[in-house]
Amino acid sequence: MKTRLLLLSLSTALVSVGQMKLSENVVVVTMDGLRWQEVFGGADSILSHDTAAKYSTRYVKDHFWAATSEDRRKKLMPFFWSEVSSKGVLFGNRTYGNYFNNANRYWFSYPGYNEIFTGFPDTTVNSNDKIPNKNETVFEYLSKLPEYKGKAAVFGSWDVFSYIFNEKRSGLLVNDGHRDLTGDLTEKQKLFNSLQHQMPVLFHEGERLDAATFNIAFEFMKTKKPKLIFFGLGDTDEFAHAGQYDYYLDAAQNADEWIAQIWNYIQSTPGYANKTTLIITTDHGRGLAAGSNWRHHGQRIAEASEMWMAAIGPSVKAIGENKQKVQLFQGQIAATIAVILGKEFKPSHPVLPAIPL
Ligand SMILES: [Zn+2]
Repeated sequence: MKTRLLLLSLSTALVSVGQMKLSENVVVVTMDGLRWQEVFGGADSILSHDTAAKYSTRYVKDHFWAATSEDRRKKLMPFFWSEVSSKGVLFGNRTYGNYFNNANRYWFSYPGYNEIFTGFPDTTVNSNDKIPNKNETVFEYLSKLPEYKGKAAVFGSWDVFSYIFNEKRSGLLVNDGHRDLTGDLTEKQKLFNSLQHQMPVLFHEGERLDAATFNIAFEFMKTKKPKLIFFGLGDTDEFAHAGQYDYYLDAAQNADEWIAQIWNYIQSTPGYANKTTLIITTDHGRGLAAGSNWRHHGQRIAEASEMWMAAIGPSVKAIGENKQKVQLFQGQIAATIAVILGKEFKPSHPVLPAIPL
């Protein structure tokens, strides 16, 4: 069934891709393990009223609750539900049969990010171990072309991104974990390097807080003007695993505000304005509210392959919430990034076809 739906979506893709207005830059932001349920419905009605919760339901209700899911999602992610919903597109609201899933069968981070950036749900990529990726990301592929050489950068809260993007082989600038940014730095960049070590190691040694990642990456974007940049945020997943639904929502809201800042910067900066498409997505879904399954993901959690994607920019039609019955996959994002730039992504491994935007 999935295959037939995929083929249907592919024929649509070919038509729409041909009419696409090209961009010169692509910015990708991921929020690790943020559920489609919150993106499209805001604070979950069960989790907001869970009397057995260890997190503060009072905080959740004070900050994120409203009577309708439309109002709740606006409270949680105001940028998504104003700017992106009016000028961009959002995929993955399963209420309408608009399905967006992992094509890989693992539903955790390394296989997910591998699929996003290499376009390939590789069955042999099946752990989060620090193994240099044998597959080629679309960033690595594009950075071999003259116009993107030295113009692609990867920032992440998790210290495995340097392996997923195969920093050594690709030569991409990767700044992840608690690493300092090196090179010719502004005073602000020196401050952000120092601040990240003053923040608590809240989750584990391989993960810094997103506030550090965002500021280091955003300042790099402003000073070096990369044509391809990735912001890999992780707080949402970590707080969900910890069972902190209040902080999980906070993390999603912070990310929405940062994405608004990135977009406002893009649209007010020559070289970026009206030439840049922003893609926002996640690496996997999570389980349902019942039985605390929202905290978990991976093969044992039936719903953990259910995810979402949003995009805004000159290469994106202003459809808003996509209500078409269609099955799309995370692995289609890599080819989409290339198509947006007027390129074809042809690494030595298979690649799923681009999504019609
Ligand atoms: Zn996780």
